[in-house]
Amino acid sequence: MPEGDTIRYAADRVGAALVAHEIVSMETPHPRHARDRWPDRLAGRAVRSVDAHGKHLFIRFDGGLTLHSHLRMTGKWGVYAPGQRWRRAARRAWLVIRTEGHEVVQFDGPVLELMTDSRTRFDQRLAALGPDMMADEFDERAFLRRLRDDDPTRGIGDALLDQRTVAGIGNLWKAEACFAAGLDPWRRTAEVCDADALAVVRAAREAMLRSVERGLRVKPAVYDRAGLPCPRCQTRVCARGQGENNRITFWCPRCQT
Ligand SMILES: [Zn+2]
Repeated sequence: MPEGDTIRYAADRVGAALVAHEIVSMETPHPRHARDRWPDRLAGRAVRSVDAHGKHLFIRFDGGLTLHSHLRMTGKWGVYAPGQRWRRAARRAWLVIRTEGHEVVQFDGPVLELMTDSRTRFDQRLAALGPDMMADEFDERAFLRRLRDDDPTRGIGDALLDQRTVAGIGNLWKAEACFAAGLDPWRRTAEVCDADALAVVRAAREAMLRSVERGLRVKPAVYDRAGLPCPRCQTRVCARGQGENNRITFWCPRCQT
């Protein structure tokens, strides 16, 4: 699943392709949006900015209209040179925006909606999001406040996946950050002091910013490495489903306490 670093990387690329470039054409090939008339409604409007909050991406057009996307497990953004082969089949495209130099393609939705700018601020799902992991300045106080307002019996690994507590961490960065901070993802948040909670989000943030810098090339230490030796102590990495959604968490039973 795309996490905050992937979305930030996509927002940067989509922004570079669209902001200050004239839009030559726009198509919404997916049947779900056949009657939405977005190309008509957005005709003649320039893209003002492209930004992200957690796993949400926003393409903001002149005149207060914004395309909002969330990729969930399946979606993907692609930015191509004209005529370049797309990485997914054309029938999977939900949105295609062409400029002179680029084709920006959204594949497989599954959340793609046109809304007013003000709705992007007041929409309940979006307004409830926790501080953005990838923000220029991460709001650590807001993170701690939200963590402490949450169920204290939740494991810290599970709590970090809650987008209302902190926006942008997914299963990969949860596992990697807990490992980097030497924190057992199963430890209840009631037993995680503020310093440890901050250490784990700082580790996540550092790794996610590095991931963006490196074009999303990531070599996990524990994620998806069940049964393989821990890179620090050689103990076998454990894996087990955690939380309401039973997302598999990976951890070293020796280094992480
Ligand atoms: Zn270890």
